[in-house]
Amino acid sequence: MDISVIIPLYNEEESLPELTDWISRVMKQNDFSYEIIFVNDGSTDGSLRVIKELAAADPEHIHAISFSRNYGKSPALNCGFRRAEGDVVITMDADLQDSPDEIPELYRMITADGYDLVSGWKKKRYDPLSKTIPTKLFNATARRVSGIHNLHDFNCGLKAYRRDVVKHIEVYGDMHRYIPYLAKNAGYKKIGEKVVQHRARKYGQTKFGLDRFVNGYLDLGTLWFQSKFGIKPMHIFGLFGSLMFLLGFVAICVVLTLKIISICSDSYHFYVTNSVYFYLSLAAMVMGLQFFLTGFIGELIARNAPERNNYLISEQW
Ligand code: UDP
Ligand code: MG
Repeated sequence: MDISVIIPLYNEEESLPELTDWISRVMKQNDFSYEIIFVNDGSTDGSLRVIKELAAADPEHIHAISFSRNYGKSPALNCGFRRAEGDVVITMDADLQDSPDEIPELYRMITADGYDLVSGWKKKRYDPLSKTIPTKLFNATARRVSGIHNLHDFNCGLKAYRRDVVKHIEVYGDMHRYIPYLAKNAGYKKIGEKVVQHRARKYGQTKFGLDRFVNGYLDLGTLWFQSKFGIKPMHIFGLFGSLMFLLGFVAICVVLTLKIISICSDSYHFYVTNSVYFYLSLAAMVMGLQFFLTGFIGELIARNAPERNNYLISEQW
């Protein structure tokens, strides 16, 4: 099969028939063999009924997964990825903001140009300013942290992947914003971008509030940390812990030296509990030890992580 289109949706009943018609039209015009996988993320409107009707009308091409409650866009994508059978997997939002007319070119970029992943770039956006400005900042940070410098729009819902890529990444929590970073961490380096048309939301409203930016940054921190120290936490906690402990040790040596001088001298009086070095040594040694133990526990957890020995081998003889 040439293409799997995965569409996560949460309360998008009005858009679905139009979107399905449009995708099917594009597929037929280009002679692609395809499947559309709707992932209903616990919609409370009539979306599930609409999907059932669409699937009944075209059972060969339309498949669906329906969650019993709203889990989020990432879990929806992840389940779609597990199910996809096409050589090229395309993800697309259900709200008609992404245009199915982009599919043939995305397909060509994966199959002919050899990209592992191509992300859409909504160069001209039809979103309110309150969303576009923070998005620019967010993308600039994501570019720096991830080291993927050629992407302008990490969170674009319209993306294309080689099937191999989606089978080797796990999208969870709210990590759909960073799929290119996940792919890069999994070893897929050829990540490209295509300017795509963006349209204003026709029906319903956005499902993500302003908390997307706070959560987005926190997730970026988590991913950065995971990719750097995920399987060797001691390298960071051990270092901090040792430095802290050393600082505390030096401070306690100062306290002891001053105390010995004070015992030997008649005129100089040194009170341990009045000294800033005493409190410094106390705090630094306790914190140092805690960092160290955190690293140690982290190592024990990393040792049991199922993906600790997952390597993507590009060639072998
Ligand atoms: N979505 C989902 N689960 C959620 C929230 C959103 O499956 O919990 C879907 C939603 O139906 C849409 C896509 O994810 O198809 C993108 O959502 P939205 O258009 O609200 O995001 P925005 O375009 O505002 O970034
Ligand atoms: Mg949208």
